[in-house]
Amino acid sequence: MKDSVAILGGGLAGLTLGSLLHNKNIPFRIYEKDELAGGIARTEHLDAFKYDMGAHRFHNRDPKLTRWVTELLQGSIIEVNKKSAISRFGTLIDFPLSPLNLITQAPLSKSLIYSLSWITRRTDKQDNLKDFAISRFGKALAQDFILDYSHKLWGKPPEELSLELGSARLKQLDFPTLIKEIIHNKRANNRHIDGQFLYPIGGFGEIPRQLSSLFDRDQLYVNNTILSIKEHGRYFDVTTQQGMFKHKYLVNTLPLDKFATLYDNVTHFPHELFQYRHLMAVFLTLNQRQISPHVSLYFPEPSHTFTRAHEPRNRWQGMSPQGKTSVLLEIPMSEPWKASPQIADQAIEEFCNTGLIEKNSILNRKEFWAPYAYPIITNSCTAPRAAFLKSLESNNKVFCLGRNARFSYLHCHDIYKESLELCQKIENTYHISKSTSSLEQHTYNIHN
Ligand SMILES: Cc1cc2nc3c(=O)[nH]c(=O)nc-3n(C[C@H](O)[C@H](O)[C@H](O)COP(=O)(O)OP(=O)(O)OC[C@H]3O[C@@H](n4cnc5c(N)ncnc54)[C@H](O)[C@@H]3O)c2cc1C
Repeated sequence: MKDSVAILGGGLAGLTLGSLLHNKNIPFRIYEKDELAGGIARTEHLDAFKYDMGAHRFHNRDPKLTRWVTELLQGSIIEVNKKSAISRFGTLIDFPLSPLNLITQAPLSKSLIYSLSWITRRTDKQDNLKDFAISRFGKALAQDFILDYSHKLWGKPPEELSLELGSARLKQLDFPTLIKEIIHNKRANNRHIDGQFLYPIGGFGEIPRQLSSLFDRDQLYVNNTILSIKEHGRYFDVTTQQGMFKHKYLVNTLPLDKFATLYDNVTHFPHELFQYRHLMAVFLTLNQRQISPHVSLYFPEPSHTFTRAHEPRNRWQGMSPQGKTSVLLEIPMSEPWKASPQIADQAIEEFCNTGLIEKNSILNRKEFWAPYAYPIITNSCTAPRAAFLKSLESNNKVFCLGRNARFSYLHCHDIYKESLELCQKIENTYHISKSTSSLEQHTYNIHN
């Protein structure tokens, strides 16, 4: 395996790249600490109920990508066309926002304030998430539906957050589109990221499960926590609790701060710039047929501990037994060690108080935490991030891939595209290096 690629981490990024290298006959090995690969994209179960580690969907923007995932899952994937909703003013408001729905659900005074603040909004400043949201929606609407939520989700004031987060979450969502809807009396904006999507039968985790099944035992090492990475001349020594393995190339998919402590070649890492948000999740199984028809419910109000609740059976009905449903509450945290059963109790209490479920309908519960759910992309980290990644990757032997390793708000479809590009890069480097080695060998043979 000396000339092969070490892929650090068996989440979607590592598995996707592995499947592409596998097709190109380029030797590689994926090192994954857990017993099952899949990382944050896994599907787990509690009794007869299944759940994803967070509210996942496969965004079908690109026909090539849709073909790839459909073939991978042998057609076991469905199209879902259901709305999400935002909890505000004690009611549920459609998300993506729809003016018809907003006008009928929000207090009339609020609708007038939203219109007025949109007319008087500033559009010249768009340096951060706050300015970006205000320039699109006006201050009042942005505050109630975007900014409070963003602050809760990322744990930072939106004026410190990068514009990148806005363009990823608020794509094709703006006030003029809302107005067009009023004029045409229909939803004009079904291309928003929260609209229609694909969902694997069996749960989102079917994607990493099927990817894992493509590999032989030598290609995917589970239960292998990486303990250190040392560079020795042309090779990297990757040490796990199972032994030490030599590789010529490294693809890191681990969070940057973890990688920096493992890799001996990183001498300085600015921890304060590269921070992550973790999730504590509370999964409840319910003796109730349905909570709402929505795929996700968003809770921007600071009085709720959780930011989002999703009902797995609204993505695929087999996620819970017939006549029963379940819900997963997401609680973002900066310090995962602060996760506690008391926080879960509080979240359950608050969710019951919304009137969406009855306490006595709870059958079972499970708390778990999903570490490194989101990189907190602030304006002050974007330039250092580019410099750090450039210095890591400058030798064409170390590469970073995935949401946490690139410190970028990537979704699975982005990861697939980046994996394709990286596979091509590795293929080129690998073949050049192969022909150089055989040329060196040939020269050696002539001279000896
Ligand atoms: C709540 C939530 C909702 C999301 N919703 C969507 C969605 O709807 N659609 C979408 O496309 N994307 C969504 N995403 C994003 C998507 O889940 C991620 O982009 C993707 O799963 C990231 O994959 P990854 O391989 O980069 O990282 P990870 O899944 O974090 O994989 C990293 C892997 O490295 C392993 N590891 C860590 N340390 C070590 C070590 N020392 N040694 C060995 N292995 C190690 C971990 O166990 C893990 O398996 C969502 C993410 C979250 C958190």
